[in-house]
Amino acid sequence: MTDFHGKKVLVLGGSRGIGAAIVRRFAKDGADVVFTYAGSKEASEALGKETGAKPVQSDAADRSALIATVSDAGPIDVLVVNAGTLALGNPLEIDPDAIDRMIDVNVRAPYHASVEAARKMPEGGRIIIIGSVNGDRMPFAGGAAYALTKSAVQGMARGLARDFGDRSITVNVIQPGPTDTDMNPHDGPMSDYMRSFMALKRHGKPEEIAGMAAYLAGPEAGFITGAMHTIDGGFGA
Ligand code: NDP
Repeated sequence: MTDFHGKKVLVLGGSRGIGAAIVRRFAKDGADVVFTYAGSKEASEALGKETGAKPVQSDAADRSALIATVSDAGPIDVLVVNAGTLALGNPLEIDPDAIDRMIDVNVRAPYHASVEAARKMPEGGRIIIIGSVNGDRMPFAGGAAYALTKSAVQGMARGLARDFGDRSITVNVIQPGPTDTDMNPHDGPMSDYMRSFMALKRHGKPEEIAGMAAYLAGPEAGFITGAMHTIDGGFGA
């Protein structure tokens, strides 16, 4: 466990699933945590009461609101961009608006939030983006656009790592494999199929992803930047 007392952490998309586990982890380790949500007001308020973290309603797809939220949070030591959506389906049939919204949330938001956070981020700050193993491997049909978004943040992290490296700010991507959340429940319609690709035949736990985020935000990870950190039970092996 790293002691994050005195550190300010902003988690974009923290109301549920992996984001909520990351909020819990940093709050437990002593950080001053702010997190955003889009629609889940009740869950966010409950998580705020449970952890002491501060929920803020802010749609990551709304660029102006997103930038204002990051700026209003003040100097942030650790930014975690977790908010994401998943639109799967036949590209010939899927609603193009759902694809564009996914690109807004999964690609545009991480970029604009990271840049805005970096403006005031102190030396040694940390930017962590939640990507996906699907940025490296898309072994089933219907996932082209989702894979596109998760590959895009890889290039972004490599570039921003160089942009902010002179201030010892690190930029990293965590790439989960199937993880038990509302987005990908362990007993969902595709779960057995997902596990068929994995070396470990189980879904990951959100807390396992949160552990990787805490490591990358901690002092032992100061030399890690511009890198992808896959935690996927061997999905991509
Ligand atoms: P969930 O659907 O369970 O939770 C998504 C979280 O993101 C919620 O807190 C949600 O807020 C927030 N969010 C979504 N859209 C917006 C938005 N426009 N503005 C602000 N917040 C938003 O997803 P997971 O926890 O499973 O996924 C989290 C991240 O991990 C995503 O980036 C996803 O792509 C990635 N991932 C997940 C995997 C999995 O198997 N679960 C595997 C690989 C990657 P609200 O509650 O208000 O909607």
